Amino acid sequence: MKPLTRLPDGTVKQVSPLTGTQVWTLPGRAARPLDAPEGATRPLDPALHDRHCAFCWARMLETTPEIARVVHDDLHTWRRLRAVGPESLWSTTPEFRLFPNLFEILSYDYWHLSHGFEPTPESQARRTSYLAEPAGRAQLEALARIRMRARNAPGWDAEPLAESDVDRESVGLFAGNHQVIAARRHYLDGATDDSQLASSGTLTPEEHCQYTAFAVSAMHDLYRGNPHARYVAVFQNWLRPAGASFDHLHKQIVAIDELGAQLEREAVRVQSEPDLYARWGAGYAAEQGLVVARTPTAVAFAGVGHRYPSLEVHTTRPDCPPWQLEGDEVRDFSDLLHACHAATGAHVPTNEEWHHRPPSFDLPMPLRAVLKWRVSTLAGFEGGTKIYVNTIDPWTVRDHTSGRLRELASRGLISARVQLVS
Ligand SMILES: [Zn+2]
Repeated sequence: MKPLTRLPDGTVKQVSPLTGTQVWTLPGRAARPLDAPEGATRPLDPALHDRHCAFCWARMLETTPEIARVVHDDLHTWRRLRAVGPESLWSTTPEFRLFPNLFEILSYDYWHLSHGFEPTPESQARRTSYLAEPAGRAQLEALARIRMRARNAPGWDAEPLAESDVDRESVGLFAGNHQVIAARRHYLDGATDDSQLASSGTLTPEEHCQYTAFAVSAMHDLYRGNPHARYVAVFQNWLRPAGASFDHLHKQIVAIDELGAQLEREAVRVQSEPDLYARWGAGYAAEQGLVVARTPTAVAFAGVGHRYPSLEVHTTRPDCPPWQLEGDEVRDFSDLLHACHAATGAHVPTNEEWHHRPPSFDLPMPLRAVLKWRVSTLAGFEGGTKIYVNTIDPWTVRDHTSGRLRELASRGLISARVQLVS
């Protein structure tokens, strides 16, 4: 079956060339207008500046101990600091912070008991020095209590928490294989009401590049620190309808001990079709006129066969895992992803999902991201038929995105490396 078919009445039928997912777009079932804030806006309370949620940086002690941060010293100097201790947290302003997720998908116990995973020497050393500082100990005790209370573990309400509980819980608080990168801003600098959220698209291209490169390096570190990690998923849920617990920009990086059925199928297929991703990604998109922008080593286009209207960004270099890409190649990927977010708008709930070649494969698999617009809700029709109704077809996604990109480019809000197509 062809990936894209337009029927005489205007219905568009899509079949994903990679996953086989069937999607129909029916005329007259258009989505609500994109990028409008939900409901009424409320003025921001200046007293809550930088402390709107637990990911806001003025509330750093409410997150698990930080693994690393990105700081911006002056216009052109960016640095990464690792293992900033509890007494030094306020010495620099973190533009991005990496820390373990307090409630991970796969727990430390899962990895330890199923695979014999042990914390890395770096994480053990951080735990020892953190526990030795009073502020660190207090932070760990509070977090241990939250985790114990969540699973109703006996002793969670003891005052103070038993030494053995702090010791046990704190191992997982440092050795988590599910991590979060939170950006500095919750709202735009100078925001006055709660509609002015700081999203991926409102970062500067340089900030977005730092964010992307930081995620690539966190992914690499999870593979290196855990020999039982077969895959490290990187994703970003933006806004509650897309699964985010906070409307504060963050990415998640999660090690898992399986590749997943879809990646295993693709691995078999790419052995006989080494150009699988180029052929059915940018190649097919170009044939169908779906490409919206390019950088020297990456391409962005409206995706085909996704359950939600989607944009995809593919790097054109298939021969290495993401952490072996050159700096400019990461920038090319990041600039396009940033432009796609900016064109989508901060009020559209989105999932950004990365796909990459895990280190156990020696197969041509480029780094790519799918940005899904969560503008519709799946219902019984989809559940019963496995045919998904997607309210916006790929050409309409292209037209909407291209129009927004032209406007953003004219205002200098996307990278000058981004070359618009169509
Ligand atoms: Zn926040």
